[in-house]
Amino acid sequence: MKSIPMKVTANQQVSERYWHMKVDASELDAEVSPGQFFQLRCGHDLNPLLRRPFSIYRINRRERTLEFLYLVKGAGTKRLTQMKAGEYVDVFGPLGTPFVLQDEWKTILLLARGVGIATLAALAQDAAEKGVQAVAILSARSRNDLLAAETLQGFGAKVLYVTDEEGTSDVSAVRRLLEGLLREDPIQAAFTCGSKRLSKLLQELAATHGIPAQIALEEHMGCAMGVCFACVCDVREGGQLKTVRVCKEGPVFPLEKVVL
Ligand SMILES: Cc1cc2nc3c(=O)[nH]c(=O)nc-3n(C[C@H](O)[C@H](O)[C@H](O)COP(=O)(O)OP(=O)(O)OC[C@H]3O[C@@H](n4cnc5c(N)ncnc54)[C@H](O)[C@@H]3O)c2cc1C
Repeated sequence: MKSIPMKVTANQQVSERYWHMKVDASELDAEVSPGQFFQLRCGHDLNPLLRRPFSIYRINRRERTLEFLYLVKGAGTKRLTQMKAGEYVDVFGPLGTPFVLQDEWKTILLLARGVGIATLAALAQDAAEKGVQAVAILSARSRNDLLAAETLQGFGAKVLYVTDEEGTSDVSAVRRLLEGLLREDPIQAAFTCGSKRLSKLLQELAATHGIPAQIALEEHMGCAMGVCFACVCDVREGGQLKTVRVCKEGPVFPLEKVVL
């Protein structure tokens, strides 16, 4: 794995807070899997100094391009919005452990909040390519933030959405939706990203229904190579608490192990 200058082929604002970047990944010789991420240098100077981590949103193996969907937050992502098509962005990766999609699963559940949708979209793409039906609950501040819903529908996913602005996104409302889906759809595995509250809920319901579940964690990262220990979290293994690095041992973990 190495850092590669990749040509930006598109970098556009797609909603009030979100941007979409597409890069030419023809120089990348590693396989990329959903759940993995890349560290992007946001600019051409040392400001900001640290790279920023972004999940892979769409993988176009035939075109040899990668896509990122990003929420504009602070210095790094603001700088990223200034990159124009034709410029080169320094991309390091792929990093981290991917989601596991078992061959025998026919229907999977995706539960995402906010920019967690970006991480789960690549999984929906993979599921569609393997003939697996994805059922998704997407939660966001507003409808304006739910742009990835169309991407998921394009992959054949059944999408339900809840928003803060419509008052449909509180945990009890999502619990009712999840319980309905778990009753009606033959869900064999679940995946989540983007909200600790919703992940806790899924942890409880997955345990009750005996469904394996995976979570992609998003912690602040420094080096993303396992050296700086900025992104540690706790997991429970064999009755013991263990501290792990999200960048190295994760970002994908079995949901039942993670201390949320
Ligand atoms: C695995 C992973 C995947 C992600 N995927 C996406 C995605 O697909 N789309 C998306 O929009 N966002 C994603 N994020 C979140 C995204 O990385 C942050 O929103 C982004 O880094 C914000 O950068 P900023 O400069 O705009 O914001 P700021 O908040 O100004 O800066 C955040 C950065 O400062 C540094 N930092 C801050 N606090 C600490 C700390 N405690 N220790 C060490 N360093 C620190 C880190 O470099 C951090 O990335 C992901 C995060 C992770 C960990």
